[in-house]
Amino acid sequence: VRVRVLGSAAGGGFPQWNCGCGNCLGVRAGTVRAVPRTQDSLAVTSDGERWAMLNCSPEVRAQIEAFPSLHPRAPRHTPITAIVLTNGDLDHCLGLFSLRESQPLTIFATDAVRAGLTESIFYRTLERFPGQVTWKRLVLDEEVDLGNGLRVRARAVAGKPPLHLAGRAPSAEDNVGLWIGDQRHRIAYVPGAADVAALSEPVDCLFFDGTFHSENELIELGLGTRPARDMAHIPVGASLAALAGVAARRRIFTHINNTNPILLDDSPERAALTSAGWEVAFDGMELSL
Ligand SMILES: [Zn+2]
Ligand SMILES: [Zn+2]
Repeated sequence: VRVRVLGSAAGGGFPQWNCGCGNCLGVRAGTVRAVPRTQDSLAVTSDGERWAMLNCSPEVRAQIEAFPSLHPRAPRHTPITAIVLTNGDLDHCLGLFSLRESQPLTIFATDAVRAGLTESIFYRTLERFPGQVTWKRLVLDEEVDLGNGLRVRARAVAGKPPLHLAGRAPSAEDNVGLWIGDQRHRIAYVPGAADVAALSEPVDCLFFDGTFHSENELIELGLGTRPARDMAHIPVGASLAALAGVAARRRIFTHINNTNPILLDDSPERAALTSAGWEVAFDGMELSL
């Protein structure tokens, strides 16, 4: 199994277009030890030819262009044979509407996530011809064949419906983690989680929600009014201890908000997670399992 980190930032990216926090100012000016990051997505393959894309960020076009393995091999072609969604947040789905150039797509999602997308008026751009999108259902806790040598199991993870569907009755299918791999190796991809309850089984590699470092990160910076848990993200400061017992050969935080001090290679927060055996995802990071 090969994994490529296409994007590793939370919604908004790093730097975020309207943000002048210390991290965003510093990375623009080149005065901090940090690299820019696009919004969160992974590409996974078992055979090196057919790829599954986990989430489809608003920056999908640049992410594909930056990675030759995802380039077309014919006048109309894509090696991306499956797109798998963890929830309906726009930073995880908006890229679908950029993949509208008459390319058949196969999208795996729970019923709740699919319904949230197909209700949008923009969805018609993916219905230009019969069979443009083939939806495949992710049923919680059931293993599904992605048709490219990979199998995936979605598990409910504590989360929220997307902001644009706020007020709707919440469903266990609103937010999932993905356990994906082949016969021999498996990774877990959990970019958004309010707690660690779904995490127990051993995996080769765990990608986990690194959105915020502390509960009141946005409040203390004067950039928001809501604590991390209110936005369905357990802070890194809490998940480090909570996940200490989960067996994983590699542990990687991803979906990192631009305010998070772990973005800085030389911050004490980064040093603490490194010494606890964790890594921080960056765009272009590749793993072979
Ligand atoms: Zn997100
Ligand atoms: Zn910022």
